[in-house]
Amino acid sequence: MCIATLMLMLLGCPEPNWDEVDGCTCAEAKLKHQWCAVCKVGFVAGVRIESQRLYEEIDAHGHDIDPKQFECPTCRQAIASDGFCEKCRMGFVHQKAYMSRLTYYIARGETKDVASIACPACRKNAQYHGWCEACGVGMVGNVAFKSKADFEAASRAYDVLIEAVRTLKRCLDCAVAMVLDGRCPTCKVAYREGLKFQTRP
Ligand SMILES: [Zn+2]
Ligand SMILES: [Zn+2]
Ligand SMILES: [Zn+2]
Ligand SMILES: [Zn+2]
Repeated sequence: MCIATLMLMLLGCPEPNWDEVDGCTCAEAKLKHQWCAVCKVGFVAGVRIESQRLYEEIDAHGHDIDPKQFECPTCRQAIASDGFCEKCRMGFVHQKAYMSRLTYYIARGETKDVASIACPACRKNAQYHGWCEACGVGMVGNVAFKSKADFEAASRAYDVLIEAVRTLKRCLDCAVAMVLDGRCPTCKVAYREGLKFQTRP
């Protein structure tokens, strides 16, 4: 060991974190819309999210439900038809509840390992969103859709997520409000589908 390294260790400087890099789960996290605890980064539809709070608020996973517990008639209909209740802002896929439009559409699509997609146009589309006429497939990030309506709705929700990630630099509460169609208590701004909805004095 060289003197310089020894000095660094004695001074308590962090050693290179090879062990941590070994435990990185980013590759799997991209496929399952998860958080990598090692890199402290989450992925939703392939979008990199460096705020754990924003990642958790997006709530990228389905929740088991008991259909009998739902009193809202639109929700009941949505549970039966894998639909989305606009009133409650909740979607259902295979008897699981999703708390935002984006996560609902992710559940309706098929998440892909982008590197393994054979078609170059689809691979390129996966960098953002786009429809490939040859394959009849729309990519929204790393999620593939065969239905054009699903693809278009998912694309809009994806744009809201991109805008929220951009907004992190300015205000975390605004970023969270954007993805949840909520309101930022600090800036006193409400959002609907990523757009400012109303302001209060
Ligand atoms: Zn990682
Ligand atoms: Zn409802
Ligand atoms: Zn294609
Ligand atoms: Zn704000």
